[in-house]
Amino acid sequence: MSPRRVTSGIASSQTMNLNYLTISEATAGLRAKTFSSRELTEACLGKIKKHNQQINAYLTLTEDLALEQAMAVDKKISAGEYLPILAGIPCSLKDVFCQAGVRATAGSKILANYIASYDATTMAKLKKQDAVILGKVNTDEFTMGSSTETSAFGATRNPWDITRVPGGSSGGSAAAVAAGMGVYSLGTDTGGSIRQPASFCGIAGLKPTYGRISRYGVMSMASSLDTIGPLARSVKDLALILEALAGQDVNDATTASEPVINFAAKLGGSIKGLKIGVPQEYFGQGLDSEVAVIIDEAIKQFKKLGAQIVKISLPYTKYALACYYVIVPSEISANLARYDGVRYGVSAKANDLLTNYLQSRGQGLGDEVKRRIMIGTYALSAGYYDAYYLKAQQVRTLIRQDFEAAFKQVGIILTPTAPTSAFKIGAKTNDPLTMYLEDIYTVPVNLAGIPGLSVPAGLTKSGLPVGVQLLARQFNEEDLLRAGYAFEQATEWHKQHPIMD
Ligand code: GLN
Repeated sequence: MSPRRVTSGIASSQTMNLNYLTISEATAGLRAKTFSSRELTEACLGKIKKHNQQINAYLTLTEDLALEQAMAVDKKISAGEYLPILAGIPCSLKDVFCQAGVRATAGSKILANYIASYDATTMAKLKKQDAVILGKVNTDEFTMGSSTETSAFGATRNPWDITRVPGGSSGGSAAAVAAGMGVYSLGTDTGGSIRQPASFCGIAGLKPTYGRISRYGVMSMASSLDTIGPLARSVKDLALILEALAGQDVNDATTASEPVINFAAKLGGSIKGLKIGVPQEYFGQGLDSEVAVIIDEAIKQFKKLGAQIVKISLPYTKYALACYYVIVPSEISANLARYDGVRYGVSAKANDLLTNYLQSRGQGLGDEVKRRIMIGTYALSAGYYDAYYLKAQQVRTLIRQDFEAAFKQVGIILTPTAPTSAFKIGAKTNDPLTMYLEDIYTVPVNLAGIPGLSVPAGLTKSGLPVGVQLLARQFNEEDLLRAGYAFEQATEWHKQHPIMD
């Protein structure tokens, strides 16, 4: 395996490579009967069997179920039945989504034996679409991390360079898509966990507006920031998946009643005159020089497309990381109280209740999770609440207002997705603060609840992918995707993928 790359194209005849198709290409092929869903599914399963031992993207493979779903779709195609857009297309889900009867670990030892008893809303929607579900993919433990190294089931490796991380926490999702082990994947993003791995693995990733997609049946980290979204090979694919999954849900009171439109149909057309804001605070110390050059090229590309680049300022950016790392651990300390060795997963089976709690959590949870539970418990305790949690909430409002003011001036904001390209496995595991700095450009977006997109924008000299981040105001995924699509159409970065044979 090497970071060399080839440009994918639409598959044809016998020599076709079914592993790197987009949803639109795969759907066209299925409907034209160029290949069957079973063949497409087998191509993905073949890749998984060949490379998963090394990449460690999949934690649970539901092969029989996937083949069954594929054959059912093939039957419908033969019968000329109506097919939803995601029908027959193989995908994976981060292992925090519940699927009835299937293991869901959240990358944690404490849930190593947990079998979900119901479907997440998103899972139910995928099934309704006749999607082919290949299995569950790796994540940092309870989605806490930026590298997929805190998983109790071992790190996932970046298919572009297996000595490097795929990003995180949706690193299993990003690696699976980049490696041809499924056409798309669903992840979660609390502070960058869809966008940063998408950037590291050379694919597209969308964090929708908070409340766009139901979180019901997806394990929570920090409920006021958690969002669910797709990782895929093109912006159009993201638009198709968003339409299939978005919408109000009676089981999630935080979902919005905002209408769900045909986002894909809105793509295309000129972005001439679009005002794109470039915030100076996102280009300071800590930004890798090669990433800076690639982002600069992306800005030039947007100019060429007729966009108007406007320098803007988001002055409260400097407090975002500190604010995030008070609010998130606080919510974690509350959300993870449920993993007590009684209700879910692994139990120490001690003789008295307190010892059972202590041993089950002591043995079942990893270092990063414990660190955050302790910080959160401290920040929420009497006497400290006002100084930390309340203060952080006030700062959060200022950060949101920064964006609101900026969006009075511009339609889209452009920044790097992450300050670096994929780093070496182990490089940051001993220093949590360095790891937290990976999220510096992504966490403000979650604090503000706005949508964000990462699109492939280039490769470093050593062949590592780098993404550009685009942001829009709340519930304006339409313009966000349109800007990303225009960029993608004008560039070739999204067509490249690692050679793995
Ligand atoms: N890396 C960030 C964190 O550790 C974001 C994680 C996420 O978005 N799930 O909190």
